[in-house]
Amino acid sequence: MRWSFPIGRLLGSELRVHYTFLLLVAFIGGSAWMNAGPEAALINTVYVLALFACVIAHEYGHALTARAFGIPTPDITLLPIGGLARLARIPEKPVQEILVALAGPAVNVVIFGLLFMSGFANFSGAAMTGNMTLAQLPAEIALLNLILAAFNMIPAFPMDGGRVLRAVLSLMTNRVRATRIAAFIGQGLAVVFALYGLYVGSFIYPLIAVFIFMAARAEAQDVQLRALARTARVDDVMATGFTALSPHVTLGQARNAFDRNDQPEFPVVDGASARIVGFLSRKQLYDALPKLGEAETVGAVMSRNVAQVNMGQPLANVLRVLQRAAGVGVLAPSGETVGYVTHQTVLDHLKR
Ligand SMILES: [Zn+2]
Repeated sequence: MRWSFPIGRLLGSELRVHYTFLLLVAFIGGSAWMNAGPEAALINTVYVLALFACVIAHEYGHALTARAFGIPTPDITLLPIGGLARLARIPEKPVQEILVALAGPAVNVVIFGLLFMSGFANFSGAAMTGNMTLAQLPAEIALLNLILAAFNMIPAFPMDGGRVLRAVLSLMTNRVRATRIAAFIGQGLAVVFALYGLYVGSFIYPLIAVFIFMAARAEAQDVQLRALARTARVDDVMATGFTALSPHVTLGQARNAFDRNDQPEFPVVDGASARIVGFLSRKQLYDALPKLGEAETVGAVMSRNVAQVNMGQPLANVLRVLQRAAGVGVLAPSGETVGYVTHQTVLDHLKR
């Protein structure tokens, strides 16, 4: 992950810290110092570091369970919003996915249990308030682990509860449908969450809701894409019957073409070779118009990293090419261009 640095390897995974996490620690320590002095700063800093030690333990719960099923976890990153264990792949057997997802919250329940039984935790004074004493720390950390476990079991992506829900559903139907249903439930929860936040006048809830809503959609798309990539060929998703631009037409003429046609992007076809040599999106056009003027040519503005593939190619190969190229022209055996694929084309196909 960008903006993160490694702090070492532990149990087969590289442990990384996101720079913004250090900002969070500095902010919490600093504001405690300003409000209540150096001792409060120390206690609050220890509290945050202990919290994130528990978050890391949670992520190792996922990572080590996944490894038991033969799936390595190359790295675990600590973010201000929690931890992120990047599994090499998602277990697609439902029972394995359930166990991997449950293992994280289970670690927090175990930490709670250990602190509870240790005798160090005195719950009478613990109230999750700002002004805690050193003696209250074990109880506060124990309670926090319970909250972490509960929060992560909310049945919505990207929380662990969302994965458990999807895996349970996929015992009954296929994985794509299960993900779609789980994402739908998660989005419903997000809406309830946002409305509740508006009701009590808090902006945190709507913010979390937006995050959950988008994560649900991303997860559904990702799973659909994987399922599609396993079976489809480039011919199944390519756009055909499109209108193309020439690299020599002006941006003014291109704007007219966009106005007449609701294509979100135009392939740019070179007249001599009859090959697609670029793509021009609506956004590129409108970004360029005020800077370069109507007389500039499409060829100067378009994305030029275009690859050509033959009809019948597995879609999985084409998606790999699309990670580096703006688009792909699809050629018939005769060499004639018969269609194209871009990120937009693939997304449009998923929506159908
Ligand atoms: Zn988790």
